[in-house]
Amino acid sequence: MDILSDDGTQLVENLKNWEEMFNRPRYEKNVDPHDVNMVRILSSYEMSEKNTCGLSICKQPHNKGFLVLCKRKSGSALPLETNIGSVCGANIFGVTFKEQQNSYNRDLNTIRYRTLIEDSICKVGFYRERIHKMRKIDGGDRAYALVRNLVDAHGIQFSLKTKLERRAKLGNNSVSAFHKASKRDIELEESMKGRKLTEAERADLTQEIPLGSIAGVRAIIDYKLVKSELVNELPKLLSDLEALKPEELHFTELTMWSKRLDGLDERFIKVTDYIEDCKRFSLESNIQFIKENIEWI
Ligand SMILES: [Zn+2]
Repeated sequence: MDILSDDGTQLVENLKNWEEMFNRPRYEKNVDPHDVNMVRILSSYEMSEKNTCGLSICKQPHNKGFLVLCKRKSGSALPLETNIGSVCGANIFGVTFKEQQNSYNRDLNTIRYRTLIEDSICKVGFYRERIHKMRKIDGGDRAYALVRNLVDAHGIQFSLKTKLERRAKLGNNSVSAFHKASKRDIELEESMKGRKLTEAERADLTQEIPLGSIAGVRAIIDYKLVKSELVNELPKLLSDLEALKPEELHFTELTMWSKRLDGLDERFIKVTDYIEDCKRFSLESNIQFIKENIEWI
């Protein structure tokens, strides 16, 4: 399909196969590069099968290349289209080909970014609903408040908080008790070996007894993100987005916005995970487990 870029430049989207290219009305094969000036790249392609380069001096079989628009130096005023392999383009047309590639990529990205922004603007209402649902119906606000109260209202001591934060960073939720070998255990082992034990051998006699695991330990760090995302960052992004006029944005603004919108759905999924962590962490039984086994955390 032919599409137009911002300045009315013609671009061609998704050439699926060679036939589609060869059937274009202006397409010509065996084009002598000395007879034409390259005007611009219309499209890039990556075909499953190889076919020859459209330039008469090349004809190299390839899969990846560009559909280009050329002006004839003499004869018909009608422009023609041909195809050039991605390697030979730069070899034959030199630095201008690189420039053409850059401007083609920029034109294509302009269209992509603007489409992304327009699509996202259409989804603002849906995203707002989603935030509301996550906060009020799925219990995001309540889960955040429960963990915050535990942390801020000293439900959890400062030293324990630091230990839990370290565990959250390491993703380590299992808790074990370690019992050093008793004097008697050591004596028994030494009499069996018929010699004194080394320090390392004594350490090896320490017994590890698994006690259980802390549910949702990451909540100790992530609870703040539940609030910052659902109350501050995401609503701010949506109001900024809503105020945009995509048709008036220049390339740098489009690029900035495409980065800002990148991974938006993944952000919502992450916040859902944070909320689940907060819920699991703040369960009475979990807090009880933490308090009972505090010396091993
Ligand atoms: Zn070629």
